[in-house]
Amino acid sequence: MADYIAIFDTTLRDGEQSPGASMNAEEKIRMALQLERLGVDCIEAGFPIASDQEFEGVQKVAAAVKKPSVVGLARAVPPDIERAAAAIEKAQKPTLHTFIATSDIHLEYKLKATREQVLDQTGEAVRLAKKLIGRVEFSAEDATRTDWEYLVQITTAAIEAGADVINLPDTVGFTTPGEIEDMFKYVREHAKGADGVIFSCHNHNDLGLAVANAMAAVRGGARQIECCVNGIGERAGNTSLEEAVMAMKVRQNIYPYETGIVAEEILKTSALLGNITGLAIPYNKPVVGRNAFAHESGIHQHGVIQSRLTYEIMTPESIGRSSNELVLGKHSGKHGLSARCADLGYDLSDGEIKQLYEKFIELADKKKEVFEDDLRVLIASIRDESFETYHVVQVRTSGDDPAMALVKLRRGENQDEMFETSTGDGPVDAACKAVERITGAKGRLLEFTVRAATPGKDALGQANVTVEFKDKAYYGQGASTDIIEAAVHAYVNAVNKFLAIEGEQNV
Ligand SMILES: [Zn+2]
Repeated sequence: MADYIAIFDTTLRDGEQSPGASMNAEEKIRMALQLERLGVDCIEAGFPIASDQEFEGVQKVAAAVKKPSVVGLARAVPPDIERAAAAIEKAQKPTLHTFIATSDIHLEYKLKATREQVLDQTGEAVRLAKKLIGRVEFSAEDATRTDWEYLVQITTAAIEAGADVINLPDTVGFTTPGEIEDMFKYVREHAKGADGVIFSCHNHNDLGLAVANAMAAVRGGARQIECCVNGIGERAGNTSLEEAVMAMKVRQNIYPYETGIVAEEILKTSALLGNITGLAIPYNKPVVGRNAFAHESGIHQHGVIQSRLTYEIMTPESIGRSSNELVLGKHSGKHGLSARCADLGYDLSDGEIKQLYEKFIELADKKKEVFEDDLRVLIASIRDESFETYHVVQVRTSGDDPAMALVKLRRGENQDEMFETSTGDGPVDAACKAVERITGAKGRLLEFTVRAATPGKDALGQANVTVEFKDKAYYGQGASTDIIEAAVHAYVNAVNKFLAIEGEQNV
């Protein structure tokens, strides 16, 4: 039987540390449930000591998912470990993940500790973690810049103290495929008890080598890959889950391994994360980018029509993308719409279908053809609304000098409508100021981009904004065939996120 490679997803922890990608508890739960459908083995849900809100998010994820192990992160000190244990104790399969830096650079400048001290601390931390939670992962932070002899000592100490998983992370994205393969082989060969534990890799993409390094680590004996959906994560990101998984699937002769991933759920998971965080997926992103299966040149198109094998190494269907992109027109009916959503893997309630149908008809009136991506945007927008405080009712702007805007919002369900007018530096600025007057949330628009969600002149414009409230950045997303309206929806979406997170903190 092929060796099993565990997929440890850290989208909700390392990924969430991407600037502006913060998720509230509800968003974390939605993402975690989708990761469960995707078939990941572990979900690292957060760093519980960081804040009360983070603790609660981890606790809620632990209660929500059944199959994957829910992982809480802790530095190798008792308060962190106790807090993490408390957050995950109700999970069906909890894993406590504790870490300490082991490279001389980190020892000297960050920890100001000797190798001896860090070795002792490793044993103590793992023993405490093991006492509180049955399954423990230990990470030697900055392992790829750590002296290999010392790494062997640290690994041996962690195994002796009861660690089940040993993670050797490339924290700064510094290593290369050959080097990391050798490092895993060396440590596995020399650390006492190495045969009884699972080795894990965690790579950052600073040099664009994260996925290649993960595959090399597997060849060196790692049997767990830590990764993030869409490759998000600190700085340049982490190993991209979908790239690593598809590399193993497509190149079985080179990587004869098995994972628990249901590849047909990949596209949906990627889209959900994009919708929640507002971090747009680059068009040329491998596997999940819009252009990943587009054949533009005539020669390629001709080849693909003759046989897909000429230029396609995997099929769009294998990751859950339908090759029949054109979907629905105005006359498709509610039944056709609901069937197509089921095809796309969405499990919508009757209420959601009803809401979606109204939005779909409104859009089909403006556009002749409604594409799958349009549907994804509409579904994301209705799902987001269930957590929204403010809903956009109407936007009117004029671009004269000075630009003016009238914005009408509704607060919560069945509440009164409120409207404000404002002037501003262009219609978007004027509209944002009007929103600020209604909501009282003082924000600073840092970034604003619009792009077409689908092809065609009458495309649905998807706006992404980054707004700063109280020194923290929030992403918002909105869609409309009118660009300014899309921007206002996005701005209000960011306001709602800010208010939701503020609200949680005030409880
Ligand atoms: Zn990391």
